[in-house]
Amino acid sequence: MTRVFSHANIMIAYNMKNLLEREGITCEIRNDIATSAAGEVPPIEVWPEVRVSDLDKSRAEAIVERALVGDLSATSWHCVKCNETNEPAFELCWNCGTDPKNKHD
Ligand SMILES: [Zn+2]
Repeated sequence: MTRVFSHANIMIAYNMKNLLEREGITCEIRNDIATSAAGEVPPIEVWPEVRVSDLDKSRAEAIVERALVGDLSATSWHCVKCNETNEPAFELCWNCGTDPKNKHD
């Protein structure tokens, strides 16, 4: 397994995992519990990580890159259900899982 994404916020790491899994890529999360190593290594080393198999690495990296590029050009959005602020790369609310496009008109 190879790391393709890491973030200090475990919910954002899980959201990236969901994004990749919707593209058919099997992922696993590492470091979802802070370890006793914290303080002995740079903090980024213990951030939650999204890992994929080596076979999926290139495709996964492209999806992550696309999500992060989208992050720069788009604006964050507020969940219609819980009003949480979400980063633009994510299609579902990281807090409650609501799909902002799936609302009644
Ligand atoms: Zn929400």
